[in-house]
Amino acid sequence: MRKKIVAGNWKMNLSFTEAEDLLYEIVDQLANKPVEDNVDIIIFPPALYLELASDAALDANIYYGAQNCSEYDNGAYTGEISAQMLNSMDATHVLVGHSERRKYFNESNQSLYNKIDQALSYNIVPVYCIGEQLEDRELNRHFDVIKEQLSEVVFKLSEEEFSNIIIAYEPVWAIGTGKTASPEQAQEMHEYIRNLIEKNYTKDIADKTYILYGGSCKPSNAKELFSCKDVDGGLIGGASLKYSDFIELIRIAETV
Ligand code: PEP
Repeated sequence: MRKKIVAGNWKMNLSFTEAEDLLYEIVDQLANKPVEDNVDIIIFPPALYLELASDAALDANIYYGAQNCSEYDNGAYTGEISAQMLNSMDATHVLVGHSERRKYFNESNQSLYNKIDQALSYNIVPVYCIGEQLEDRELNRHFDVIKEQLSEVVFKLSEEEFSNIIIAYEPVWAIGTGKTASPEQAQEMHEYIRNLIEKNYTKDIADKTYILYGGSCKPSNAKELFSCKDVDGGLIGGASLKYSDFIELIRIAETV
């Protein structure tokens, strides 16, 4: 039986003090009412703040990770952060292939594969983000796009490797736009993804794989989305920067 996951992607936001305030508001709320066992919480702060997150995580049973990692192991790659470094900070997860990274940093399928390989080598769970552009949906090729993003990257993993990843379906037209996929659109795509996983691996692996929804998910629409059979929670951008919204999303996930 899969739990729900509520994951917050802070992107490139917040000063150190603001990040500290946000984290400790979340920790305080969870100290007053600890999260139920049926929900896991993950936060993805800017990597500079991972140590802060590690202190908070201890207090509140929160997993934390980075928004990106290098495709290389170590060495002369100025500015990069390796999966090994993330592991040494006790980070447990890493986002790979977020649409903003695909768009602004031209991440190729091969480099995404390498990043996932690096993360898995250091026992970090990659959260692999996929999603179609608005134009793809309008031209009715959204299923093909998703299939390709899976086939060219994560379907190259062995069964054992694939069993250690999380998928986040984030239609690009819904990220940061205020437009959310309808519960029907989300469920349809999540079911499609789960069926593809079954075809490529096994039913057992498909049933155990977490598939999160991302794209303008907020307290007002989360219940409908999280209630969908194949939606295992959310990857939350904007609403994860406001502690009250993030906590409300966690409480909603506890009840569905
Ligand atoms: C995201 O960046 O992964 C995201 C889903 O953002 P938002 O919730 O702001 O649309």
